[in-house]
Amino acid sequence: MSATLSPSSPTPATTPKHGTVRNFIGGAWLSGDGGLLDVHAPATGAVIARSPLSTPAAVDAAVRAATTALPAWRATPIKERVQILFRYRALLERHVDELTALIVEEHGKVDAEARAEILKAIELTEFACALPQLATGEVLEVSKGVECRTERHPVGVVASVVPFNFPSMVPHWTIPNAIALGNCMLLKPSELVPLSAGRIADLLTEAGLPAGVFNVVHGAREVVEAICDHPGIDAITFVGSTRVAKEVYRRGTSNLKRVLALGGAKNHLIVMPDAEPEMTSSNVAASMSGCSGQRCMAASVMVAVGGTDAIVSRVVEHARRLVPGETLGPVISRAAKERIERYITEAEQAGARVLLDGRGVTVPGHEDGFYVGPTVIDGVTPDMRIAQDEVFGPVLAIVRAPSLDRALEIEAASPFGNAAAVFTERGATARYVAERATAGMIGVNVGVPVPREPFGFGGWGESSFGVGDITGRGSIEFWTKTKKTTTKWNREAGTNWMS
Ligand code: NAD
Repeated sequence: MSATLSPSSPTPATTPKHGTVRNFIGGAWLSGDGGLLDVHAPATGAVIARSPLSTPAAVDAAVRAATTALPAWRATPIKERVQILFRYRALLERHVDELTALIVEEHGKVDAEARAEILKAIELTEFACALPQLATGEVLEVSKGVECRTERHPVGVVASVVPFNFPSMVPHWTIPNAIALGNCMLLKPSELVPLSAGRIADLLTEAGLPAGVFNVVHGAREVVEAICDHPGIDAITFVGSTRVAKEVYRRGTSNLKRVLALGGAKNHLIVMPDAEPEMTSSNVAASMSGCSGQRCMAASVMVAVGGTDAIVSRVVEHARRLVPGETLGPVISRAAKERIERYITEAEQAGARVLLDGRGVTVPGHEDGFYVGPTVIDGVTPDMRIAQDEVFGPVLAIVRAPSLDRALEIEAASPFGNAAAVFTERGATARYVAERATAGMIGVNVGVPVPREPFGFGGWGESSFGVGDITGRGSIEFWTKTKKTTTKWNREAGTNWMS
């Protein structure tokens, strides 16, 4: 979803507040080796930093640093490795205000959303601290005197490519678990929000992480392609749009790497006429507008079954109370604002009714910010583009369905499969939807059904390519390979067909 890149040409006279961002390779801060991209604060439109568009040479340098660090790091017992993460977790807590402010500035989230992101990063780190209890091996006497044991080994040098919408949380989906399990990592942040990654590197270093275990290479497509192609990288996780997830999955696996690539989403929330009106409407409004709709778990389509007009009115009322610039942040870029507004106009032209219109919103004092107001559109039909594409803005499309089965058909027609939810007071209806919805994460009276640790996060269909989930217990499989050792010490055991 990133805007088309155009490296900034002549360096303007003024240096932006955060200067030029640097790569972090082998424990050293290094200047990028390619062009530069202006980083805009979405709330004001001002240039606050320059992001390096690194080249494959920077990827190669990071892989060499990680490869050098790997033997000592993987030989460090896991209980010692996680001591660094315990210290890192304490540093995240100590710096929560500063880290929150950085996300507010580079991404545009409102304070509460940015703070929640850091709190989630802390929770993800806590899970990694518990890995010595969870990632143990197994042992069994498989025949008389013969023992089989499995133990987990790191995959090796790994890369994590992340999107713009969570500058800190999504990197924490992978960093703590991968390094706790003994891997050395290269992180490729989004070029639109490069600042938080620098603080992650600072704090990991302060916590005592050895040089080369964690590296950051900034850039865009060229860096990601170099990651997919580099023979020294063993595994890649990607989180971003479906179009790029497919490219990374195809290219990475064709180079024989282990790849898990999470893509975009189009989450359907099915609202039944018996749903509790206040809980439902507040949940739906919060899901569609939180982080300005720029969450892969955001409510995008509300499928209203039967007589739900009273709930629809309440959703509009909740959404109307949001104040851009105060309780609703901007979207990431001018291009995103224009794209989202185009979707609204196109739906209106196709015959949908805009109940609440967020087009053309300006915030006093922040006239150049990239704001889109909360938008609710009724009478959307499944054939409209707004019902099919990921809009990634604070926009809710309401599709009316005559029956629950028709609602489920509409949900199933989407190629995405990240999340789905049902709002009802009947347990049997909830169960019916939970069994049939074609998504990896299901909410029952929950608008943002993110599974929290130790449960894994991951969708189905075009929302995820590869095996397993990116967080929780599932991630242990991804970041390790098992070694199986069969042992016999007692000579009397003799031999049999299996040993
Ligand atoms: P994006 O796909 O544009 O970019 C993601 C990453 O890929 C960035 O680091 C970017 O630099 C890089 N990239 C961009 N174009 C590339 C190309 N052609 N080749 C190789 N690399 C490329 O995504 P975004 O706009 O940063 O993030 C928003 C998207 O991420 C949404 O679709 C959202 O649903 C998705 N997302 C999904 C999940 C999930 O769990 N499924 C979580 C968060 C975000």
